[in-house]
Amino acid sequence: QQNFDVTSVARKWRVDAKQTASPSELVNDLFSSDVLTLEQLKTRLSKPAYKSLQATAERGETLDASIADTVALAMKTWAMEKGATHYTHWFQPLTGSTAEKHDSFLNPSGEGVAIMSFSGKELIQAEPDASSFPSGGLRATFEARGYTAWDPSSPAFIIRHANGATLCIPSVFASWTGEALDLKTPLLRSIEALNKAVTPAMKLFGASEGTRVTSTLGAEQEYFLITEEYFYRRPDLVMTGRTLFGAKPPRGQELEDHYFGAIPDRVLSFMTDAEMQLYALGIPVKTRHNEVAPGQFEIAPIFENSNIAADHQQLIMQILRTTARKYGLVCLLHEKPFAGVNGSGKHCNWSMGTDAGENLLDPGDTPSENMQFLFFCSAVLKAVDDHQDLLRACVASASNDHRLGANEAPPAIISVFLGSELTDIFERVVSGKRGAGKAAGLMGLGSRVLPEIPVHAGDRNRTSPFAFTGNKFEFRAVGSSQSISFPITVMNAIVADAVSQLTAELEKKLKAKDATLDSAVAAVVSETYKKYERIVFNGDGYSDAWHQEAEVKRKLLNLRTTLDAISTLDSKKNVELFGKLGILNERELVARQEIMYDIYFKTINIEGETTEYMAQTQILPAALGYLAELGEIEVKSKAADGITKEVVGLSDQLYTALQALRKQNEALGGDEVHEKAHHMRDHVLPAMAKVRDAADGLEKVVSAKHWTLPTYRQMLFVK
Ligand code: ADP
Ligand code: MG
Repeated sequence: QQNFDVTSVARKWRVDAKQTASPSELVNDLFSSDVLTLEQLKTRLSKPAYKSLQATAERGETLDASIADTVALAMKTWAMEKGATHYTHWFQPLTGSTAEKHDSFLNPSGEGVAIMSFSGKELIQAEPDASSFPSGGLRATFEARGYTAWDPSSPAFIIRHANGATLCIPSVFASWTGEALDLKTPLLRSIEALNKAVTPAMKLFGASEGTRVTSTLGAEQEYFLITEEYFYRRPDLVMTGRTLFGAKPPRGQELEDHYFGAIPDRVLSFMTDAEMQLYALGIPVKTRHNEVAPGQFEIAPIFENSNIAADHQQLIMQILRTTARKYGLVCLLHEKPFAGVNGSGKHCNWSMGTDAGENLLDPGDTPSENMQFLFFCSAVLKAVDDHQDLLRACVASASNDHRLGANEAPPAIISVFLGSELTDIFERVVSGKRGAGKAAGLMGLGSRVLPEIPVHAGDRNRTSPFAFTGNKFEFRAVGSSQSISFPITVMNAIVADAVSQLTAELEKKLKAKDATLDSAVAAVVSETYKKYERIVFNGDGYSDAWHQEAEVKRKLLNLRTTLDAISTLDSKKNVELFGKLGILNERELVARQEIMYDIYFKTINIEGETTEYMAQTQILPAALGYLAELGEIEVKSKAADGITKEVVGLSDQLYTALQALRKQNEALGGDEVHEKAHHMRDHVLPAMAKVRDAADGLEKVVSAKHWTLPTYRQMLFVK
């Protein structure tokens, strides 16, 4: 553990430190200092080049390739001033993490001489050896080439390490045949699709010509920290990111004394260091606190436009991981590192906003704002109901299955929490219409059709997977370790689809004689709410009663496991949806599905084999070693006899379970990845559970001297 000094940390992460500045002043200077913002480029580019780049970055206009050389030169100069020696296209392959391949600026230019160069061509496109990234069959190995291409809508930045720095250029990744091989391409396409779908509606609501709409996103990241030494002594954590064994400690999270409690000193030092680096990267981290489980914490930035937010979220995960090591800690981003205590999620707060800064899901103060709000809000209800399967599928993974569908927040059933006030308002819109026949005068609020809505209506409900929280929706089913790109893509897509359909309805109604915007919107909102009311649930999402009601009465989907969820991805409905919005063609969609099967299979396969290895080489030997020691006791002792019996019983149970697991690990269930994935779920996971059962029993009786694995008590409570 290092000595921590906030000023020196701040200074380290900025380039031209003011020796006298206080930490808070430094933060101000630090923010975005390692980002090549448009503001920065303005002073480094000619006016026409800057204008052209700005049009691409801010309004999504096609990049003018002729400015590439100028921009590349400006980028290189800036990066070298910051100490960078290398550059990389920084992209998001379908692994869910980011990828980079560094090239140095160095360019030999004669005998013993070199210049530092970076051309427009190199900026715009690169060709990493793509054959090792998952492609889901999109790329046959004989044509394994893929390329990365600069995404000018997300700014370049510097990643620092102890001995230098690298210029990172946010990029997309595609095959030479033009198919997306990454998570960012469809995200960008979905942002465009949302804009295209929402602007016609905004025009009806009187938005000015040229208004652009984009989705906004703020992701709250939960994570665990444990002492590094314990991590290295747990093969399961090293190999799989979660503990495959571990008896429940005498104290779990029952005391609820950790949540929002004082942050331990070492952790606070770590957090501050990480935040300084994130500030330098222009990431507006705002909130930090202890989470529910012991050893669990949260970090949350202020929301940004969703493309930038997705890049920044990847960087947050990376910086948390690397920084923890400097403090003798390891940051666990797995959804369920420890059985029996809360898992980690990544709540994605999603909304839509205009380029003028108007939030379309903010009720606002005037009836006309309210009307617009109710229209878009009902579109979200429709979107969620029509595409429950997609929302479940986009968060599906072997690790997230330990949260969703388990007895923990949120359930695998997708529903929307509106809160009592907003629900009441929708119900009044519905009933008012029924009563009054003609929409005008509906609520007895003078001539206004729609009621005023208290700003930031919305109580709290932790058990809902998709909750309205005053001016945005919070998608809570997203897993802590996953990229948020695909979940955002899905939210953008399904809302774009719903808004388009409702806008068509609205236009139809506006054509009727005597129609006013008020009455037409009221009619659309009322009809939509009536049709999709079943998706609204404000009660306890954990309760058995809800599972019953959701399935039997409301007929909502309950896709319990990852395999149930991802099998829906290539349905006719979903192929059509992504196709017509231009987000993913059928081949691209199916490729993603294949990769999800593959990752699911591999994840559990590794867990199964790690379980076998640890039980065989660490846990059984501990039990047998202890038995041998007990056997040496010569005095007849009730205690020794009793313990011996118990250890013998549990060891035999473990041995039997281990044999069974070994068989399942070897079987694999077939040659094809779907078969293997099902084998993992239906045979390997249950066999692992039996091994764990016996092993956790042993942990409670075998002498601590023989037990080589750090326990939950140590990992969760030593700070
Ligand atoms: P909680 O009470 O759930 O912890 P906070 O009020 O701290 O929530 O906000 C959670 C996240 O929601 C933050 O990242 C915040 O910036 C984000 N948020 C706020 N408004 C919007 C919006 N219009 N669009 C997207 N995210 C938003
Ligand atoms: Mg939250």
